Amino acid sequence: MRLVVSCIDRRLNSFLEKNYNDGETLFVRTAGANVNSLKDTELLLKQANKIIVVTHSDCGAIGVVYKTLNERSIPDELERLISPFLQYAGHTRSELEHINAEVQGLFARKMSSADIQTEFVLTKKLDTKASENSSAVITRPSTVKYSEMLPLNKINSTFIVQNLGHDRAFDKLILTKFLGINNLTYI
Ligand SMILES: [Zn+2]
Repeated sequence: MRLVVSCIDRRLNSFLEKNYNDGETLFVRTAGANVNSLKDTELLLKQANKIIVVTHSDCGAIGVVYKTLNERSIPDELERLISPFLQYAGHTRSELEHINAEVQGLFARKMSSADIQTEFVLTKKLDTKASENSSAVITRPSTVKYSEMLPLNKINSTFIVQNLGHDRAFDKLILTKFLGINNLTYI
C-alpha cells in the first residue's frame, strides 16, 4: 500500500489529489506532516510499503516551531513537534521548513520499513489564492478524492486533518490556538 503523509494545509489539497490520488493511495495528514506525533495512526505507516512525506514552504506548524524555539519553555502538547528542532535553534523559518522534510522522513524511516520518499512543495507555485474564511475537516485516513469529500468551492479553503484517535488533539491545538481556525467539522 502507498501512503502519503502530508501537512493539513488547505493549499496542498488540490496538489495532493492531482499528483498522488490514484484511488489506492492512503492519505494521512497532520500539522507540519509531523510524523513524530503519530501514535494511534502509526500502524498504518507500518503497513505501508511506500511512504511519501510531503512538507511545504510557509507552513503554519513550522511557524509555531520557529516561534517556540525563541521562547524559554515548550508546552507539553507541542513537545513531539518541537523537540526534534531544538538543535536547529537560530535557523530561519524557511531553513526550518526545509529541515522539516528531512526530520519527518527520518521519523518515518524509524517507524516503518517502507520505501520512504520526501517532497518539499513551494506553496507560492501552487495555484491557490488567499482564503479569508478557512475551516477544517477532521476525518480518517482514506483514499477518497478531496473533490469528492468537499464541495468544489471549499477545496482550497479547508484544512484537512486525516489521522486517528488521540493524534487529532495535536492538530486541533494547532488549528484553534495557532492558526485561528475554529470552524472544525468531523466527517
Ligand atoms: Zn503546513
